[in-house]
Amino acid sequence: KVKRSGKNRYELYDAQMSQEMREEMMLKQALHHALDKREFVLHYQPQICGRTRRIIGYEALIRWQQPEFGLLSPHFFIRLAEESGMITQLGEWVLNEACRQLKVWQLRYKRPDLNISVNLSARQFVDETLSEKIFGALEASNLSPENLVVEITETMVLQDFDRSIETLKQLRDKGVKVHLDDFGVGFSSLSYLSRLPVDAIKIDRSFINKIDAGENDVAIVSAIIAMAQSLRLQIIAEGVEREAHIRYLSQKGCYDYQGYYFSKPQPAECVSL
Ligand code: C2E
Ligand code: MG
Ligand code: MG
Ligand code: MG
Repeated sequence: KVKRSGKNRYELYDAQMSQEMREEMMLKQALHHALDKREFVLHYQPQICGRTRRIIGYEALIRWQQPEFGLLSPHFFIRLAEESGMITQLGEWVLNEACRQLKVWQLRYKRPDLNISVNLSARQFVDETLSEKIFGALEASNLSPENLVVEITETMVLQDFDRSIETLKQLRDKGVKVHLDDFGVGFSSLSYLSRLPVDAIKIDRSFINKIDAGENDVAIVSAIIAMAQSLRLQIIAEGVEREAHIRYLSQKGCYDYQGYYFSKPQPAECVSL
């Protein structure tokens, strides 16, 4: 009996695998034409200053309106786009579209101080022409560099730390801001963080949603905040879902929030200030 159920389970697993692989191959194929077919959209999630309760900016988050699979989150295609190299073009589209949209909002709502955050992928980050592309997007949209934030992760900078510093310096010299995304999940150490030219860290949401639970994770959050404060970095908490999170974070000195508590990411036409 054991043997039989074992075999059945194996076959089931096998069938699932090939189904997943088939879907992945389909998506990979479709990805080639998706940009031309204008199937990508950006959703926007506000970042809120807890002191004023004002929106300070938005993070642009990509979605793929796939004709067969529906609206796909980046989880289903960013890796594929990286593997095919298509991420470079896709990333450039994101930059241009996000800058264009922010300019519209700045003018419409008379909020020239509003920021837009754009996620960079690992491959984009090591692209020699990255800063050209960023400055190109700023020029095309007539957006000032101070209002553009690029989000990178710890793993991205650790690939080649010295070169990363150079890239980040180039961007910051022009006024572009840099935020360190998903902070805390990687190899965070005070010594390397102190050498990184960044403006802010975003505490990973896996730590935030544990605030109401375990003692240890709460200690991690307050340690991260203390560390960022000592380096005079702005601190943004991502994945803020409950009042209790805000209460804890503000008590520890973190006042900038992003999360479902305020808003889920929304299509541009649903955004109003
Ligand atoms: P991220 O940059 O850390 O973005 C935050 C993610 O957390 C988003 O998922 C957002 O929808 C989700 N989130 C925000 N608040 C909450 C909350 O309160 N609770 C929960 N459970 N989730 C929350 P999303 O949009 O699925 O994006 C996932 C990741 O995909 C992003 O993580 C980012 O790494 C990547 N990504 C998104 N857009 C782009 C892009 O244009 N280019 C690249 N290279 N990567 C992107
Ligand atoms: Mg991000
Ligand atoms: Mg993040
Ligand atoms: Mg994340």
